[in-house]
Amino acid sequence: MPEAVTAWIGLGSNLEDPAGQLQRAFDELDRLPHTRLAARSALYRSPPLGPPDQPDYVNAVACVRTTLAPRELLQALQGIEAAHGRVRAVHWGPRTLDLDLLLYGDRVIDEPGLQVPHPGLAEREFVLRPLADLEPGLDIPGHGTLAALLATCPSGGLQPL
Ligand code: ATP
Ligand code: CA
Ligand code: CA
Repeated sequence: MPEAVTAWIGLGSNLEDPAGQLQRAFDELDRLPHTRLAARSALYRSPPLGPPDQPDYVNAVACVRTTLAPRELLQALQGIEAAHGRVRAVHWGPRTLDLDLLLYGDRVIDEPGLQVPHPGLAEREFVLRPLADLEPGLDIPGHGTLAALLATCPSGGLQPL
């Protein structure tokens, strides 16, 4: 058996009861094969990143312990998105559920279709703040400390739900 790795998942939704979508997704993460949910952040409301003519998002992060390989975990996340009726239409457009693989242990991965740490992580308050709630001492491979990123990150109107 491979060693379990700590991975961090970013959750987002702005359609069809976003908070409910995230609550279900936390349970589904816990039920993935070879994976258990170790921690879940509070839920936050944030203005949309892409086209402004869409509802606010609800965001959170989850910490999992998993023996799935990074690609297997990404596929599993995409399976959960699909089960939530995720349709890819407009780039950064509205969605029922978005699951981003933020961190996979201390690994740096740069392959077609999979970049870890997630490329948006360092600039996104709706990711950094819930991460810091759960693990303030976290290091982000290639970016330094979470605390330093949070201190320089543009403030984006994030509010606890
Ligand atoms: P963003 O990635 O800027 O948050 P998004 O979440 O709306 O935007 P998606 O349409 O969900 O983007 O994903 C586009 C592609 O990103 C996916 O097909 C996936 O292969 C790729 N991808 C690369 N790295 C990751 C990662 N760490 N987590 C999730 N998807 C990733
Ligand atoms: Ca995303
Ligand atoms: Ca995504």
